[in-house]
Amino acid sequence: MEKYLYQRNTSKNSDFVMWMAFPGIYSFSMSSLGYLWMFKTLDELEGINIERICSDTEKTVYPKPDLMGFSFSFDMDFLTIFSMLEKYGIPLKSKDRDIIVFAGGPVVSANPEPYRDFFDFFIIGDGEDVNIKAVEICKNATNKQEALKLLSEVDGIYVPVYPQNVKKLTKKLTECIYTPIISDNAFFKDTFILEMSRGCANRCGFCLASYLNLPLRCVPYEELLNTIELGLSNTNKIALLGAQISAHPHFNDVCKYIYDKIQEGQNIEMSVSSLRVDAITPDVVKTFVAAGQKNTTLAIEAGSERLRKVINKNLSEEQIFNAVKIARDNGLKGLKFYGMIGLPTETYEDLEAIINLAKRLKQENKGFDISFGFSSFVPKANTPFQWFGRVNTKSLEEKSNFLKKELHKLGITAHISSIKWDYWQAVLSRGDATLCDFILEVYRQGGKLGAFKAAAKKYNIDTDYFACSDWNFEQKLPWDFIDINPGKEFLKQENQRLKGFEVAINKA
Ligand code: SF4
Repeated sequence: MEKYLYQRNTSKNSDFVMWMAFPGIYSFSMSSLGYLWMFKTLDELEGINIERICSDTEKTVYPKPDLMGFSFSFDMDFLTIFSMLEKYGIPLKSKDRDIIVFAGGPVVSANPEPYRDFFDFFIIGDGEDVNIKAVEICKNATNKQEALKLLSEVDGIYVPVYPQNVKKLTKKLTECIYTPIISDNAFFKDTFILEMSRGCANRCGFCLASYLNLPLRCVPYEELLNTIELGLSNTNKIALLGAQISAHPHFNDVCKYIYDKIQEGQNIEMSVSSLRVDAITPDVVKTFVAAGQKNTTLAIEAGSERLRKVINKNLSEEQIFNAVKIARDNGLKGLKFYGMIGLPTETYEDLEAIINLAKRLKQENKGFDISFGFSSFVPKANTPFQWFGRVNTKSLEEKSNFLKKELHKLGITAHISSIKWDYWQAVLSRGDATLCDFILEVYRQGGKLGAFKAAAKKYNIDTDYFACSDWNFEQKLPWDFIDINPGKEFLKQENQRLKGFEVAINKA
């Protein structure tokens, strides 16, 4: 059952229909803050009938849309997007259809080029405000061509048939966005999710969540408390979201606010997205424990201080040990550490440093559950590490097996993402428009790993060039026309500054 936290206007007296589409199943869509918030802002508009569509939607209220918008958060979402379009008989390529299909989200904001044949326009950056404008244009235009021409003149909108430079949209966070519909069928059942901050000032060299969302913006404290109250008047489960919520100047105050309520007898379950190690304080952990959390995730990214410096994650071993002690002493049952393998300049010494760290953490914290999760480095467009290629798949699989084996010997669970899938992610992430037919072929051949290989062969695409080659600064990048502010010059400087650590450390 769904509970709307706003008043819906269901008699719009309009024949214009929009589908807000989520490339995944219903339960995931109901835990997707950005998707649900977009739906709310458009649902409140007069004059459009809007409906949510997911990959497992069986029956639609409106038989056919005039406009369809997709939330595009992961590189592989294109597979589900294509199958959803085909399910409703909508041609996949923009040039073959009359209805307008667009996308927004981190993947296409960073680099829309591999998908440019399939979407009529893209929203680059924060879409909350421009969404409304875009929908109004589509509704009022007399035909698709007129709509696209007008859309191409709007800041933050990229229309592939009218290519030009586009500046990413950055919204001030004066209001707090939250899940405006709560559902007992959501992946996070009956949970009210709210956004505390957007972006991260830490600027780890590989991190799209940071660079795409600079500068870090924090919701005003009063607004946060009002939103928390709105949530708690509708459910007892709340989740605080943000790339680095502990950077919010009132993070500790928010924890205390929740803690005091629990002490006064209110039943509250609270969860948070992963935390920085230095955010772990006794009061924060006590709040988590009182709010029913048994463990949490800490992102350390790399095992050695050297490599953490190179990626800009300046975190000492002492801080890590201290965080574990605080977590353990204040009632958490375990911690999961998140890291990456295959980061630029990584050697086996860095991997041994992870094993060593894990061993000592385990020895010093007997009975405390310590586990690890890893993914492999994927160079992301519009980050300082966009010029670095990945290490080849064979070497990464050897590294992955080495880590798993050594951690297993210590009795530590380690989950490592699929190296092969990460490779294809990297191809897409640094891809250009020549990949459009390739991804269509991948979809036609079933979308499994073999389909990627077969499609690359069919179109004679050098996928290693996109995934594994180091690129130089002079090279023209497929996404150069997107200004994420700070621009390319800043990313170059960051790249060199971080490489400089490597040189300095080697000389020392
Ligand atoms: S601390 Fe986390 S969110 Fe922030 S830049 Fe680093 S990896 Fe990204």
